[in-house]
Amino acid sequence: MGADRQLANWDKLHEYYQALAKASNKMRVVELGKTSEGRPYIAIFISSPANLARLEQLRQLNARLADPRGLSEAEAKKLVADAKAVTIQSFALHSSEVAASQTAAEFVYDSITRTDEEATRMLDNVISIVMPSINPDGTQMIADWYMKYAGTEHEAAPLPWLYQKYSGHDNNRDGFALNLPESQHLGKLMYRDWMPQAYVDHHQMGSGNARLYIPPYAEPIRPGADPLVWREMQLWGAHMGNKLEAAGKTGVIGSAIYSGWGHMGFHWITPFHNIAGMLTESASARLATPMFMHPDQLRGGPRGLPAYEVQTTMPSLWTGGWWRVRDIVEQQKIAAWATVDLAARNRETVLWNMYLKGLRQTERGANAAVRAYAIAADQHDRQTVKKLANMLLASGVEVHQTKGQLIVEGRVYGPGSFIVSMAQPKQGLVRWMLGRTFYPDNTYTRTAEGDPIRPYDMSTDTFAEFMGVKSDPIGETVTGDLVKLAANVPMIGTVAPSAPHGYVLDGRLNDSFRAAFLLLDKGIAVRRASQPSADGSVKAGDFLVAAGDVSAIAKQSGVDFPALKSPITAGAYPLRKPRVAMLQRYGGGNMDEGWTRLMFEQFSVPYTSIMDAAIKAGNLEANYDTIILPADSIAAMTGERPPQGQGGGGGFGGGPNNTPAEYRSGFGADGVKALEAFVQKGGTLLTFANAGDLPMQRFSLPVRNIVSGLPSKTFWSPGSTLQVNFVNTHPLAYGMPAQGLALFMAGGQVYEVTSTDRSQDVEILSTYIDRDVLQSGWLLGEQVIAKKAAAVSVKHGAGKVVMIGFRPQHRDQTHGTFKLVFNAILNGPVGATPATTTAQQ
Ligand SMILES: [Zn+2]
Repeated sequence: MGADRQLANWDKLHEYYQALAKASNKMRVVELGKTSEGRPYIAIFISSPANLARLEQLRQLNARLADPRGLSEAEAKKLVADAKAVTIQSFALHSSEVAASQTAAEFVYDSITRTDEEATRMLDNVISIVMPSINPDGTQMIADWYMKYAGTEHEAAPLPWLYQKYSGHDNNRDGFALNLPESQHLGKLMYRDWMPQAYVDHHQMGSGNARLYIPPYAEPIRPGADPLVWREMQLWGAHMGNKLEAAGKTGVIGSAIYSGWGHMGFHWITPFHNIAGMLTESASARLATPMFMHPDQLRGGPRGLPAYEVQTTMPSLWTGGWWRVRDIVEQQKIAAWATVDLAARNRETVLWNMYLKGLRQTERGANAAVRAYAIAADQHDRQTVKKLANMLLASGVEVHQTKGQLIVEGRVYGPGSFIVSMAQPKQGLVRWMLGRTFYPDNTYTRTAEGDPIRPYDMSTDTFAEFMGVKSDPIGETVTGDLVKLAANVPMIGTVAPSAPHGYVLDGRLNDSFRAAFLLLDKGIAVRRASQPSADGSVKAGDFLVAAGDVSAIAKQSGVDFPALKSPITAGAYPLRKPRVAMLQRYGGGNMDEGWTRLMFEQFSVPYTSIMDAAIKAGNLEANYDTIILPADSIAAMTGERPPQGQGGGGGFGGGPNNTPAEYRSGFGADGVKALEAFVQKGGTLLTFANAGDLPMQRFSLPVRNIVSGLPSKTFWSPGSTLQVNFVNTHPLAYGMPAQGLALFMAGGQVYEVTSTDRSQDVEILSTYIDRDVLQSGWLLGEQVIAKKAAAVSVKHGAGKVVMIGFRPQHRDQTHGTFKLVFNAILNGPVGATPATTTAQQ
């Protein structure tokens, strides 16, 4: 495995694992489900035949230790004596990091064929769960792509499209939202069924410094986990480092490059599940093509590697030369083996730690300043509230629901509200999912010159905020009539038995939009109220549905269809089935585009993906009412400059210039002209974040982005939730709360009107509040954006450009602002822009 210019694809690897399982009684292949593209998604269980024979019993022992509530110390000791250590190692999450899928095959083979003392100890003491590819679709794509061009001038060209159907490289940002089928399967395996003592995810990094990063992480770390997990990572990292140096591997570094405060991907979120969640990162070759490095091409790296010199965390240097996939396979194999070997040698310690972590986190939560989070059932979008509760369940968090009315700290929570106690083993996770988050601002996060260093990913991942759901921290132990949720909260809508005037759908619910899209698709008439009804039962933005058979759609969307009390004859406009196109491109694909597709599928939004040729051909208005440009640079869209590091996972292949001509993209000046003509003839162009540059600069719109080019000391918001007001009397912001949150990250835009003779063409949909703008994350220079526009609609000819300066559908996670996208789609040429004057809360 890892021979020069050779990659086995997933079909072959899967076949191989089946063959091994047939031949060995030390491994079992379990299909957890299907991938996004329908391939088998498997976990391999490796242990002694005796252990495999009682796997379910061992699973239960392990689970009991992971949630030790009610377990006495004596009972725990008995369990530890009988239980086996559990490790999960995953390979090939990022498909362009090609070595790991190849390594896994040899690691599995060695695990079941080695008969020495070390191997026997491992099989007797450990249940080693191997995910041979977290993303089998991508493993297939990249191997097929690479092998097709190996030996040609296009060898090692980067894959032109996303290597995961929806997420590309972002498949590692889904460890909490669990949007992708692959994440759902792994989440169930790791967070609910098995709670391993260690989880290691094997990756690759750039080529220019260390050969291998091993645990532990660099500073800063995210607080709130049991301290033992960080000590355990040092233990595992030390064992890996020791084995690697003993084997003569050089350039291995720990405590550097990857900070412990990262995104909520699997390896970074697991510490809050009480699992030692770790990462290895090997230096890359050019896909499977060897790379030559001169010594002076090796430099220092970020975080804890100021120069390429020996230091305690990297006591030997790799001195350059050829670097091949085989080199990566060999060092990954050693690291993977060290993981299971440490678990085998320290079985009792790591199991006892599991018990301690669960016990102590529960005790901490029971006595902390915040003892629970309360989530009111009856808030702005009550369906999304239920989705949040279900997301917590999917992560193995315990959630209770109120049966009747509950009064906590003077606030009233109606029936069906959720209480998430901190007195549970996963309280660390609860804290980050539901509690306000402030990213550290200190010398770990600033350069010597005082410039902020970009966090590894976001500066917050507070999921309640992303979803637009209010979760209240509670300082007392919550008691009352509570039911522990045993299964997902059902979401099945009811239909009024008699509705002579039709139905009304609550415009505040994301799922009402889904229902509207489904209804329009079925040809059932839907109108949108543009003013409140006299009796107050209809709000502006609510959907008015003609009488008819809507039961299937109520069931599918989960939305209630109450009867409209009296006919609405004025103050409503008809909707028609939206005709939506979204730009898709090569150059590694655009992750923001992929996630938007997934959101559209979840909400039954009809759409067409269009590429350059369709745009350049023009006459777009004949087929579409709305065209979406997902977050992207002008250069990447037009092809003026090939995109760098977008989607494909960095420069692990060749440069963009060796991409075969048919896979280069960019719609050029002709495409820009066609898009402008589309708008001028009545179309709606919808842009997210930096994609707004294209219409702003090329159509000469009377607005500018006031944060463009500002130094980071002046303005800085790397993935933060910021407080905004929404003009929810405007059809483009119907259904939004008057106050809400916008997720602002690098590349985001904030708007200011630049022209007085065209200022009447600009409508402001959302503005940042005037002070204390930061909700969670990190924000410098709030005065720069205070009271400025977060989203605008600009009339241009007969149509308009809707620019949302932040990402309203970021990674399919920001449910709180999905409606801005849906409104822009529904508010095509048919929907006029009737304004009402009453502000809605
Ligand atoms: Zn990676």
